[in-house]
Parts: sequence; structure tokens; C-alpha cells
Amino acid sequence: MHLAPWILALALAASSEDEARAALERAESAARAGRFSEAKAGYERLAKRHPGTEAGRVAARRATPSAFLGWDWVVQNGPSANRVDVVLMGDGYELEHLKGWTKLAADIPPLFERQPTFREYWRYLNFLRCDLLSADGGVDGFGREYDTALNASTGNTFAGHVVIDRARVQAMFAELPEHDGLAICFVKNGVLGTGGGGIATIGGREYTTTVHEWGHAFGRLGDEYDSEQSAHQGATGRAPNVSDTGDPAQVPWAHWLEAKHPSVGVYEGAAARRKGAWKPTTSGCTMQSGERFCVVCQEALVLRIYAFVDPIDATTPEPQPHRSAPPLQVGPEGLEIEVRVMRPSSHELEVTWWILPEARFPVTGGAAPGARSTTSKDRAKRGRLEPLGDAPHRKPRREASGRHVLRIAPKDLPSGKHLVVCRAKDTTEIRGERWPWVLSDPDGLLESERSWWIEVP
Ligand SMILES: [Zn+2]
Repeated sequence: MHLAPWILALALAASSEDEARAALERAESAARAGRFSEAKAGYERLAKRHPGTEAGRVAARRATPSAFLGWDWVVQNGPSANRVDVVLMGDGYELEHLKGWTKLAADIPPLFERQPTFREYWRYLNFLRCDLLSADGGVDGFGREYDTALNASTGNTFAGHVVIDRARVQAMFAELPEHDGLAICFVKNGVLGTGGGGIATIGGREYTTTVHEWGHAFGRLGDEYDSEQSAHQGATGRAPNVSDTGDPAQVPWAHWLEAKHPSVGVYEGAAARRKGAWKPTTSGCTMQSGERFCVVCQEALVLRIYAFVDPIDATTPEPQPHRSAPPLQVGPEGLEIEVRVMRPSSHELEVTWWILPEARFPVTGGAAPGARSTTSKDRAKRGRLEPLGDAPHRKPRREASGRHVLRIAPKDLPSGKHLVVCRAKDTTEIRGERWPWVLSDPDGLLESERSWWIEVP
């Protein structure tokens, strides 16, 4: 058989791409199995042999002296698309220390599992580990520069808090198949910690502060301690738990004061200042140095979790909210719709079903329930659900399994089209507690819905 030269060239290019991809996968699995020098050698070889391929370019990035070598799950509670994915990264870990890094990373999820707020929402979290090689073990500062994966340096505070280079963290995120822009970075030779904008940084072995720094990074919470740690510039920032005014009507937690929660007040001394910053409690919140978050911080954290995680985890069949698409047929054997909702550790979400006639939705009446759900991972963008005034088909129900099934028989409904609506809500009412964990949910994050057009012949 004779092949035209250009076909041969294409075939060779394709086989080179395939070969390179296979070599990349081998290097990645070596890293996943903890064989880091084998992974590094694999990337170096691949970068040399297949420089023109996509996999060769990835390998070239990973063959640099400080680089991403691979990643693995530490705890996987569910699909990334509907979980908070917490990425653990290490800086200043040289090849011979990477085994120690994987051990450190394994110690982090239990810190969250032991913390009451995160324990309740444990199944909403995933933890994954990036294995990052650093050529050096040092932290930049005092005139010295080191070559490390996240380019850590000593920050401009008098205690010398460690900070990392956010652009480097972004570059490591880009090596992952999926991420939420949330990371905890452990700097081997750094001191203290910092957190903000989704990224927490922890120095050395001070991981007892991990949950506190995560409160800053993920929960956008402020400090509730008043001891000076840095030279302040500018005004006090506002956070759910830090106010720049002591006026009870103006503080971000005014709704807790209005509800007269016994542990909430307005106390001066927060955000590492004695004056000019106020906090909601003196009960020793984790954002001060305590074991538990105060109710105000806890509310903010639960809402942040629900900004990423939809209360409805999966449905069968897929939702069918658009009237223009063919409706699901209710055959002689009936139709079954199953919804699986998220499962907090000690309480259940409340699920309600409606079956609404087509006449309920005028053609010009705007989007029907469920048609507005956004595919954006920031659930706050969807906005609150309109209350449904109609009588539900089935009263609100809670199931420990999180599995809710609606069975529709043709005799149950008049013939024609109907919209089935399912709503799930976390009331945040925990057994044995007098107060719900969330008092105010302005974006409607605790609630979700799906809908299906069905037709009874
Ligand atoms: Zn607090």
C-alpha cells in the first residue's frame, strides 16, 4: 500500500501525540503513587522527545526545577461540580521531602472534620493534594531569594507572616482538571499564616491555625482578636463578623441582635485593633482563637458553602424545565422522578413537590420555576426563588438517605401538560439547638429547585 507523504506525516504526528499522551499519563500515575523522582524523570524525557506535542508542552512545564508533579484526592465526598474542592499545596518541599508533604496533607481534612461547623457539612467538602516540587527549601526575604513552587516570601508585617505568590497558585490550579479557586498553601519554612481571596497560607507546622486562616480565605471573615500584629494602613475593612461602626443597627450582624441571640452583641476590639473595629461576641470564636466559630461566623460559612454546593445533588431523569422541549410522557406504567439531596451530618434537607397545570403558566408569563437555574458555579448569581403560592402535591418531607422519589400514575392527573416542581431547602435547624444556623439568607442560597414538563395522554 502506498500512502501519500502528507497522510504519512499526519499519521506520524498523530502517533507522536498518542505516545506523548501515554507518557504523560505514566508520569502522572508515578506521582500519584508517590514515586516523585520517577515522575520528574518522566516529564524531563517526554519534554525532550516530544517538544511539539500538547503533552510535551505540559511535561516541559513540569520538568522545571520547581514545578507541579501531580495531584491526588485526599478526601473525595462527591463530584467536584457540586462540592467545595479544597486544594492543598506545599511550598519549599524538595524531592526528598515530598513524602513528608503527603503525610502532612493527610492530617489536614481531620482538622475540618473535628470542627463542629465543617463536621456538619463534611459531605459538602472534597480535599485534593497538589504535589509541588521546590528546588529550594527557603522563604524569600531579608535579601535572599529561593526557587520554590509558590515563591513564598516574608510579608511586610512586624511578625514576618509568610505570604505566597498568588499568580503561582493560579498556575498550579491550571494543572488540575477542575478547581474552585480555593487553596490552602503550607510553606515549609514560613511562620504564622495569612488568608484571603480563597487562598490561605500556613507557615511551617502551625496547622492548628488552618481552620482560622480558612475562615479568612473561604468565609471572608475578619479577625476577632484585638492584638496588634501589623502596621495598619487605611480604614477597618468590613466582614460578616467585623464592623467599622459600633452602631447596633449598622453592624453586619444586626439581624442576630434583632433576634436577640444571647451570645451576640457589639464589642469593640477586632481586626487586630483595640479601637475602631467591632466584633459580635466575646465567647472565643475560632476567628479569635477558640475551638468553635461564633454563630455569626458560622452563618457566613454555611452560606459560603452553599454558594458552591447546590442542595440538590442529582436527579433522574435530568430536569426538563423548558416548555419548548418535548415533555416526559406519563405512560400506562407511570413515571418516576428521583431527586437526591445533599446530606448534612445530623439533619436532613426538606423536600417539597408540586404538580402544576400548564394553564398556571401564561405563555407570556416569563420563565417557569426551574428554568432560571444557572449553570454558573457561583450560586449567588441565581438569586432568590419566588415563593410558590400553590398547594404542594406532597407536604415537605425529610429523608435520612437524601433520596426522594415522586411516582406519578396516569390516573392521578387530568390529561394534558403539567409542570413538576421539586424544591429542596436546608432549614439549618440542628437537633437540640434552639437557633437555626442561618438566620438571614438574602441570596436564597439554602434553597434549590428542579422542574420537569410532563404530559398525561
Ligand atoms: Zn466569629
